[in-house]
Amino acid sequence: MLVDSGAQVTAWDSREEQRSTLPDDVAIGDPTAIDLTGFDGVVVSPGVPLNRHPIVDAAKRASVPLIGDIELFAQMRDELPPHRVVGITGTNGKSTTTALIHHILREAGVPSLIGGNFGNPILGEQQLAPDGVYVLELSSYQIDITQTLSCDVAVLLNITPDHLDRYAGFEGYAAAKARLFEVQAPDRHAVFGTGDPQTRAVSQREKARRAPGLVHDVDGAELADRQGDWPSLQGPHNLQNVAAAVATVEAIGLTSDQWLPALTSFRGLPHRMERVTDHGGVTFINDSKATNPASAAPALAAFPPDPDPRIHWICGGLPKGDTLEECEQYFDYVKAAYTIGDAGALFADLLAPHTRVTRSEMLGDAVREAISAGEPGDVVLLAPACASFDQFRDYEARGDAFRQIVEALVGDMEIGA
Ligand code: ADP
Repeated sequence: MLVDSGAQVTAWDSREEQRSTLPDDVAIGDPTAIDLTGFDGVVVSPGVPLNRHPIVDAAKRASVPLIGDIELFAQMRDELPPHRVVGITGTNGKSTTTALIHHILREAGVPSLIGGNFGNPILGEQQLAPDGVYVLELSSYQIDITQTLSCDVAVLLNITPDHLDRYAGFEGYAAAKARLFEVQAPDRHAVFGTGDPQTRAVSQREKARRAPGLVHDVDGAELADRQGDWPSLQGPHNLQNVAAAVATVEAIGLTSDQWLPALTSFRGLPHRMERVTDHGGVTFINDSKATNPASAAPALAAFPPDPDPRIHWICGGLPKGDTLEECEQYFDYVKAAYTIGDAGALFADLLAPHTRVTRSEMLGDAVREAISAGEPGDVVLLAPACASFDQFRDYEARGDAFRQIVEALVGDMEIGA
């Protein structure tokens, strides 16, 4: 697309085998080795840490801006047919909310394309029909390399500690998220979750510079009675996601007769509170995407005691910190815990005063032990509160492994029965 628009493009991939797959009409050059003077921008992937990477230093030395694919999209918007842009950020719930907004728009007959952190590159092959909506999931890394995107609706779900290795502390991380609103024109809509003080502070700031009615604070309480009708949107965290999605599509002009049925038909995403199977009255839930304690907490909250605790909690992996603070208030929902991976010993120590703990080490052992302890009405919940990289390629591989292990063990039991 860049070459078609007349740009001269130089490309680079640090993996040698990938370089031969670059198109013929681009030059090949290592940005840390060539003279960058005269370039309009260096387009980097959000995977490049801005606080420590040679490409960042090279671009700074040559005073060339570092931009991401979303910024490139922002700069090319004038050339696209009429459209609107929704941007969604937050520590947790971005993908669910993005997928939900996309689903509601589609069901209401509004053309929609997902991009950003999720789905296909926004400047890829797919074309959005005129008057459609680009629904962009934006991580803070992406926002860092997006300078001029003015969303028609910008959404901030929540801010809790995560990814602190790439920012100057929590304040730096929170500031990165807030930038989405600073670059947005003040006559556009902004939607904020009300669950944490950092997000509330950004909302306050934005109220000061926008007309009344353009800032929407959402907590979802008004939707709680209806949540039973939305099978793939269980748990208190999903109320926040639903409320944000509803405020967004209403800002775009949809009405409740359009969004209500879509909440029921939404199928949810894999690895987020995904129901794998039920066996012998025990439900198996894959929430492998709960990669930090703040996202594991609502997964626990979704299964309150009935009347006794019923969660068999499989947790652990590569820890993001040395506490489970956000989860503590739900420890008494946990009937038994099975700790795995690098965090196994730490989590076992934290949980032992509250519940029965098994140090399983491996996911397969944890599932086996949880199955043998499970009783009708119980829930076996994989919500690791940790990254996966100590034992798995990524959270998806971890969730797939959980699903396969559960299906194999449950299948064996059915054959044996
Ligand atoms: P993200 O794309 O921001 O990582 P996901 O929708 O993939 O968000 O969900 C990530 C994890 O966070 C899942 O484990 C999910 O259960 C949990 N989660 C989803 N929405 C929220 C929310 N609003 N607040 C806290 N946790 C959430």
